[in-house]
Amino acid sequence: MSQTTSLEQALSPALAERRERHLYRQRRLLESAQGPEVRVDGKTYTAFCSNDYLGLARHPRVVTALQQASNEYGVGSGASHLVNGHSREHHALEEELAAFCGRDRALLFSTGYMANLGTVTALVGRGDAVFEDRLNHASLLDAGLSSGARFQRFKHNDVSDLERRLLSTQSRRKLIAVDGVFSMDGDCAPLPQLAQLAEQQNAWLMVDDAHGFGCLGAKGVGSAEHFGLGQDQLPILMATLGKALGTFGAFVAGSEVLIETLIQQARSYIYTTAMPPAVAAASRLSLRLFQEESWRREALRNRIHQFRQGAESLGLTLMPSETAIQPLLVGDEARALELADKLAGRGVLVIAIRPPTVPVGTARLRITLSAEHSEQQVTQLLDALGELTRD
Ligand SMILES: *Cc1c(COP(=O)(O)O)cnc(C)c1O
Repeated sequence: MSQTTSLEQALSPALAERRERHLYRQRRLLESAQGPEVRVDGKTYTAFCSNDYLGLARHPRVVTALQQASNEYGVGSGASHLVNGHSREHHALEEELAAFCGRDRALLFSTGYMANLGTVTALVGRGDAVFEDRLNHASLLDAGLSSGARFQRFKHNDVSDLERRLLSTQSRRKLIAVDGVFSMDGDCAPLPQLAQLAEQQNAWLMVDDAHGFGCLGAKGVGSAEHFGLGQDQLPILMATLGKALGTFGAFVAGSEVLIETLIQQARSYIYTTAMPPAVAAASRLSLRLFQEESWRREALRNRIHQFRQGAESLGLTLMPSETAIQPLLVGDEARALELADKLAGRGVLVIAIRPPTVPVGTARLRITLSAEHSEQQVTQLLDALGELTRD
């Protein structure tokens, strides 16, 4: 006979309340690789919810690189980087990332969440101040909150609000941290203005470019290249490998002193197992591939253009995004879920994003596009949206 324990009694009401407020989250069971077509819970869908923007997550050559490196290095890295887990593949990837980004050095982290956490907490602490855009990714916000520095959120992309806050701080160190491309909105941070303000106010600028890396800029370096910001203007550059690069992990790039400081001080770097060397090898190949196959970025741009034009002619309200992230603002959580369900009924998979991932009252369908989507697949999405919004 099962007995309700005090643990369950304590936890159940919050779960029930979440359900009632249409905020309950459920996982779907993916039965295929990422791609424009996926099998989920036994059904096939055209999917617009992956961050695999360039279609590299299942690229045969990347898969082969992973297989070959695991034949040589095995699966697990066996230790943290500072103990005995820093392999030649990790090291080569760091050098290639630094060169690609035009930075002195780069440091790999096992995930983007850990890169943000480790970097912010290594750079600022008690007596310092950290300023973050209120729409920053949760990992960057959590990093700021746990640093012990005085934590302030400024209005989204509002440089004057940030300036006012910087002017009224007495803190020794001041760190400004923003997403390069906002993950739930798709718009870009005004990096040139932020870099200028950081210089004037003697603050440090950190950019999380998880969604810009691989997509923006002539070579695909990301937001820094798009705005032409070098290491002097943008000294702390972070990006992830699990999105456009299609693999897993993250890195921070910057000066020698920055990277050495992170190696000595970033706890989420020091006290964790290094990513599998084969994942580093696959990332190296992916980094080369997407430079060789620049048509992928071109194809992505074409699909973004097609979607925005089509959505506009349907009278849908788009957000000011030129990136692969093209959210449709719905507002109400229940309505967003209902729309996502109805799209699924038409064979189109899109995820409804609800609070607390986005502010209350701004539930949305987060549509993401990929270089691998065909024109017909985007038309299928637009047709389904057209039918549903006419209902
Ligand atoms: C996905 C994401 C992260 C976290 O990266 P992981 O490697 O998935 O942990 C951090 N910042 C932003 C903006 C992201 O979108």
